[in-house]
Amino acid sequence: DDEDVNPSVSPQGSVPSSWGETKWGDTASYNAKKKLQSWYQSSDGNWELAKILSISGNESLISFSEGKVLKVKSDSLLPANPEILDGVDDLMQLSYLNEPSVLYNLQYRYDRDMIYSKAGPVLVAINPFKKIPLYGSEYIEGYKSKSRDSPHVYAIADTAIREMIRDEVNQSIVISGESGAGKTETAKIAMQYLAALGGGSGIEYEILKTNPILEAFGNAKTSRNNNSSRFGKLIEIHFSETGKISGAKIQTFLLEKSRVVQCTEGERSYHSFYQLCAGAPPHLREKLNLKSVHEYKYLQQSTCYSIQGVDDAEEFHIVVEALDAVHVSKENQENAFAMLAAVLWLGNVTFSIVDNENHVEPVIDEALLNVAELIGCEADNLKLALSTRNMKVGNDNIVQKLTLAQAIDTRDALAKSIYSCLFDWLVEQINKSLAVGKRRTGRSISILDIYGFESFDVNSFEQFCINYANERLQQHFNRHLFKLEQEEYIQDGIDWAKVEFEDNQDCLNLYEKKPLGLLTLLDEESTFPNGTDITFAAKLKQHLKSNSCFRGERGKAFTVHHYAGEVMYDTTGFLEKNRDLLHLDSIQLLSSCTCELPQAFASNMLSMTEKNVLGPLHKSGGADSQKLSVVTKFKGQLFQLMQRLESTTPHFIRCIKPNNSQSPGIYHQGLVLQQLRCCGVLEVVRISRSGFPTRMTHQKFARRYGFLLLEHVALQDPLSVSVAILHQFDILPEMYQIGYTKLFFRTGQIGKLEDTRNRT
Ligand code: ATP
Ligand code: MG
Repeated sequence: DDEDVNPSVSPQGSVPSSWGETKWGDTASYNAKKKLQSWYQSSDGNWELAKILSISGNESLISFSEGKVLKVKSDSLLPANPEILDGVDDLMQLSYLNEPSVLYNLQYRYDRDMIYSKAGPVLVAINPFKKIPLYGSEYIEGYKSKSRDSPHVYAIADTAIREMIRDEVNQSIVISGESGAGKTETAKIAMQYLAALGGGSGIEYEILKTNPILEAFGNAKTSRNNNSSRFGKLIEIHFSETGKISGAKIQTFLLEKSRVVQCTEGERSYHSFYQLCAGAPPHLREKLNLKSVHEYKYLQQSTCYSIQGVDDAEEFHIVVEALDAVHVSKENQENAFAMLAAVLWLGNVTFSIVDNENHVEPVIDEALLNVAELIGCEADNLKLALSTRNMKVGNDNIVQKLTLAQAIDTRDALAKSIYSCLFDWLVEQINKSLAVGKRRTGRSISILDIYGFESFDVNSFEQFCINYANERLQQHFNRHLFKLEQEEYIQDGIDWAKVEFEDNQDCLNLYEKKPLGLLTLLDEESTFPNGTDITFAAKLKQHLKSNSCFRGERGKAFTVHHYAGEVMYDTTGFLEKNRDLLHLDSIQLLSSCTCELPQAFASNMLSMTEKNVLGPLHKSGGADSQKLSVVTKFKGQLFQLMQRLESTTPHFIRCIKPNNSQSPGIYHQGLVLQQLRCCGVLEVVRISRSGFPTRMTHQKFARRYGFLLLEHVALQDPLSVSVAILHQFDILPEMYQIGYTKLFFRTGQIGKLEDTRNRT
C-alpha cells in the first residue's frame, strides 16, 4: 500500500536540472488516494494544505480548512505528511520529502522560534531577525551535558569538539548562505560555545573580541544587511591536547575595496569611519582634525549616515576595548585611526586645471594638508604623487602630468590601498596576539564565514569573484555529502541506492580552464595596454561560446550558469578592478612617510611586487606595477582554503533568510525555497535518509567499544569483536552494514554505544 510512511528512494532517484514536481519520485502512486492531506499550489505560488474529497479521471476535488472547495488536476497535488510529523527536527524524518512539505516543516518550527533544524548532517538555520532565548550559559551547559539535543549551532560545535578529540582529526564548520542570512551571527554563536568549553587560559576572551574589530573595519550597511560582511573569513581555533584553546589564526579573503571610495544610495561605507567620527574622544578629534561624517565626500555619496538601533559612538568604544584586548597598543590604535582619517580627508582633495591640456593639480587646502600631516609626508610630495606619474621609456625617465580623471583615479586608488592595507595590518596584529606557541601539538576547529552566492540586477567584478568562491565551496559540499559518500559505499562493498546530484565541475572549468577560461582570459586582457571591458567581453564571446555554462549577451555582458542559478555579469570595470593598480609613485610616497603605518603598508606592497617578479610574472599595465592580478591571487587563496578544508572533518551550516526586509515573523515561501534549492539541502536529506552516515573501521570500533563486551573476546580479530558488540547491543540488522574495512551505521545508532561508553 502506498500509505507507507517511509517510502524508499527510487533507485534512479535522479535530480533533473529543472525542478519538476515529481522529482522526488515518492509521489507517483499517491495522487489517487482519497481523504489524504495534499499540497495545492495556489496562483500566488504559495502552497496550501487541502484534503482530497474525491477523484474522477485525473481530476480531484479538494477542500481547504476554511471550507473552500476546488476541482484541480490530480497531478498538480503533492502529498502532505501526516500531522504527527509536523515540525520534526530533522527533515530526514519526513515521509514525503517534497518541497512544500519541507517548506511547511521549516515554517512550522520557525513560527515557534525553533530556528534550527537538521537536514540530515546539515544544520539549517533560519534568521529570526529578533532576539530569541536560545543562547547563553544555560543552553551551553545543556548541550555540553547532552541534556539538550534539539538542533542548534551549539550541538554542531559540540560535535566538532568531540570528533576532534575522538578521531584526532581537525574539524571545520562551514557556514554558507545569502547576504543577511545570518552567517556571521552563527559563526559568533559557534565561537561562543567553543570558547565556553575550551576556555580557561583567557585567550578565548581575545578570540571573541576579534569579532567587533573585524566587523567595524570589514562590515558595512548594504541594502540587504545592516551589518554585511564585505570580506570572507576563516578562523582556525587551536586546542591543546587537553581540549583547551591555545590560540587562533584568522585569514581573510578579498575585502571589497571599492566601497571605500564609492557607495550606493542607502548603503554606507565601512562602519569604522562612522564610529570614529561619532566616538573619538576630544584629544583624538583634535589630533586627527576630525569633522562630522557629513563633511566627508566619500561618505556623502549616500545620504545614509546612521543605522537604526545602532549607536556608532558606543560601537567605537566597544572596538577600542576589543583592540585593547588583543594587545594593540594605544599608540598603534591612534595610528590606525589616523589612517581612517587620512582616507576620509583624501576623499575631500579636489583638483584644479593648471594648463591648456587639461592637466590638473590638487588644490592646496585643509584636506590636502590634513592628509599630508596624517600620513607624515610633505604636502608637496603628496601633491606630486596625486598629479604626476613617473614612467620609464627606454632609458629615460619621463614625468607625465595627469588629467582630472587620472588624478581622481590615483587619489581613490591610494585611499583604497591605505584602507585595505590597514585591514590586513589589523588582522596581522590580531594574529600576533592570538598566535599559538611553538609547541603546536593540538588540533584545530576552523570556522568559515564567507560571502554567499549573489545575483543582482547588475552584477560586477565583486559578484564574479564571490560566485566563483561559492562554486568552489559548493564543490567541497558536494564532494563530502555526495561523492565521497557514494564512493566509500562502493569501495567497501555496501549495497546502496545511488542518488544523482548536480555536479558543478563544468562551471568551475569555465572559470579555471587554461588557456581558455574566464580567469585566464580576464588576466590576459588585463595585461594588454589596449584591453578594455569591451574587448574583454568580445574575447569571452569568441572563445567560450560553445561552453554550456556560458552565454554571451548583448554589449559588454555575459551570463554564467552557476549551480545556484544564472547570473548576468556586466564587464564594466572588470579590467581595472582586476589590475587593482597602485602606481609606484603612490607606493613610494607611502614609503617616504614618517609615520609607521604608511611605511609598513608600502614595504608590504613592495615585497609582494618583488615576490611576483621572481615568481610568475603578471605584468598588468606598465613596468611599475608587476603584481598578481586580483583574480589570480583570489584563486590561489581559494585553492589553499580548499586544501585546508579537505584535511578536516567538515560540519555544514546553511543559513536561510526568510524575508528580504530584515523583519521578524515573516516567512516567504518562495524566497526560502529558492535558497533551499540553491544549496542542495533536499538532495542531502534524500541521500542521508537512504544511507549510512556514521562509519568506523573494524579496528577502531573494536578498540573503542570492545571493553564493553560482557564476554571476553579479547584475542579475537576486530571484525569478530565488532560483530559481538553489535549483537550485545541489539543493533538491528537494517541499521548497519558491514563493509570490507568499515562498519556503516544509519544515523543515531552509535549513540547508544557512546552513552554506555561514557558512563563506564
Ligand atoms: P552577509 O553575507 O551580508 O555578511 P550574514 O549572513 O553574515 O550576511 P548576519 O550579519 O550574520 O548575516 O545577520 C544579519 C542580521 O540578522 C544580524 O545583524 C542580526 O540582526 C540578525 N540575525 C542573524 N542571526 C541571528 C540570530 N541567531 N538571532 C538573532 N538575530 C540574528
Ligand atoms: Mg556576514
